Amino acid sequence: MTGQGKHALVTGGAGFIGAHLVRELLKRGYKITVWDNLHTGRESNLAEIRGEIDFAPLDIRTVTVADASGLKFGKVHVVFNLACPASPPHYQKDPVYTWETSVFGISNMLKIAESQGARLLHASTSEIYGDPLEHPQRESYWGNVNTVGVRSCYDEGKRAAETLCADYVRYKSVDARLFRIFNTYGEFMHPDDGRVISNFCVAAALGKKVPIYGNGAQTRSFCYVSDLVAGIMALAELERANYDGPVNLGNPHEFSIRELVTVLEKVSGKKLDTENHPLPSDDPKMRRPVIDRAEKLLGWKPRVELEEGLTRTLAYFAAEVKNRA
Ligand code: NAD
Ligand code: UDP
Repeated sequence: MTGQGKHALVTGGAGFIGAHLVRELLKRGYKITVWDNLHTGRESNLAEIRGEIDFAPLDIRTVTVADASGLKFGKVHVVFNLACPASPPHYQKDPVYTWETSVFGISNMLKIAESQGARLLHASTSEIYGDPLEHPQRESYWGNVNTVGVRSCYDEGKRAAETLCADYVRYKSVDARLFRIFNTYGEFMHPDDGRVISNFCVAAALGKKVPIYGNGAQTRSFCYVSDLVAGIMALAELERANYDGPVNLGNPHEFSIRELVTVLEKVSGKKLDTENHPLPSDDPKMRRPVIDRAEKLLGWKPRVELEEGLTRTLAYFAAEVKNRA
């Protein structure tokens, strides 16, 4: 599917990843409708392209097929379902909201995709692997998730969403595709997002202490957002017959949180003071994607390593918070 003349409906398009995806879709010639209730997103993330897209502040927990009929750009060819708070402090603030957005949201968007005859791409997450007992994580791993913990609203909501997508493929022949995003960072993240890269960059930019949760030995694998978006687009434009289940999208280069501080020191050219905070409940101890499937299926692999991506991201955050200093 190339963009020319095609209409993409992007939920969560005013959020961090959505803002990048919408720009890439525009570059490829898609017409774009964004639905985003601005729960964690910002209309300013779409400022200079606002005139080129159709935006409505809809909540995907309650949208219906009627909302997608009579859109400015007509029949929808592809749905990108990104709407959902993604940062632990944000998704835990109102866990019922998070679960409903994940589950009712995808249920509504699948009905819309079915009624429009559209392909649907759903943003799943490495969190479906929970606190993994297999390392690194392949798509075939079923995960280790606490069903009743503070992260469960997000993890189990995303797992249920995957189930619904898989059943729409099996029983209703909807062309629904899942990608599992591993910790992604970059410009357009909210300075108060609360995830590790934004917290660390904001602290470094303001000369404050960098907050390490726990002892900082836990690991994550950080993917720069342009790499992620390239992967999403490759999956969106893949021949239908070649899709064969969820695809991990992430950078397989793994860092402990303490190592992340060291990389940030190099990038900022400053020695950073740190302070320790308690480790949040159920915080996964390690995370690294196996990306063989994406490499084989999509010819995709990440290109931007942490030092380069963090240099750009730190400059972005420094500009965002300069008035707070
Ligand atoms: P984000 O919080 O910046 O963006 C989410 C967007 O969804 C926001 O614009 C928000 O206003 C919107 N939204 C939330 N609830 C909504 C609702 N009920 N109806 C309509 N809009 C709603 O987060 P992000 O990092 O851009 O994440 C985007 C998607 O990618 C999410 O589904 C998230 O679960 C997934 N994901 C992200 C990462 C990552 O590292 N960034 C990792 C795994 C999965
Ligand atoms: N973390 C940290 N300091 C922060 C924010 C997060 O040390 O200011 C840790 C957190 O405990 C986790 C890792 O960094 O082990 C990644 O956290 P984030 O919230 O970015 O993503 P997730 O836990 O969802 O992977």
